[in-house]
Amino acid sequence: MKPAIECFDELVSLLRSRKPALFLDYDGTLAPIVQDPAEAFLSERAKRLLEEAKKRFPVGIISGRGLDDLIGRVGIEGIAYAGSHGLELAFINGERKQLVDEFHKCLIEVESAEMELRCLSESFRGAIVERKRFGVALHYRAVAADQIGGLLKLFEEIASRHPHLRRSEGKKVVELSGTGANKGTAISEIMIHEGITEETHLPIFIGDDLTDEDGFRALKGKGVGVIVRDGPRLTEADYYLSSQEEVLEFLEKLVDSVQGKA
Ligand SMILES: [Mg+2]
Repeated sequence: MKPAIECFDELVSLLRSRKPALFLDYDGTLAPIVQDPAEAFLSERAKRLLEEAKKRFPVGIISGRGLDDLIGRVGIEGIAYAGSHGLELAFINGERKQLVDEFHKCLIEVESAEMELRCLSESFRGAIVERKRFGVALHYRAVAADQIGGLLKLFEEIASRHPHLRRSEGKKVVELSGTGANKGTAISEIMIHEGITEETHLPIFIGDDLTDEDGFRALKGKGVGVIVRDGPRLTEADYYLSSQEEVLEFLEKLVDSVQGKA
């Protein structure tokens, strides 16, 4: 994997006669990660760069936040937004789309998995079930070490009864969440709606989290994935940036490289 700033000329050469279509995650990519997610705001510089960028090429913000929360935080018209990992979309002209079927199907599945996991957690001291809007997590950090194997085996049984939910894991936590949409489908939806094709544009997606991997995967062979990370990790991205400051530096370079192309 290569550093996006140092290899910027290589990226520019990929553009050829095309313009970029830039998709960005919000938290940890455009805005700093803060203790209280309610306090994650955009800097003035980030806002100014997004305003400049949208005059030159299509821009979309793709987030796990609810759509209205996301739009309220960014507050820029003329760019596309995807909230709730792509379940809610707002296009560049402001038109909105909600994936209602996926939305409901997902909520029903998550509710039923939540009930089963709560039931399971009662037999394992220290197990904690956390309900998220479109998912449910089982934390086992406080479960006795000799019990964890048994707990995870039963979790897998529950997971297998919910094939529409995606199973994922983190540090001492396993999770089932909705698969009706993800950041990759969100990027594809926006590209189709805005008439962005690989002939006219080079799609670029910048993100920092595990859920952003869906976005990198969606752009494999079609565009460019850029991960924001502070150390090596397994990813489908092609390039990396080391901080939110570097994201803004990258954005500035991209805006400058498209000068006069608008
Ligand atoms: Mg993020």
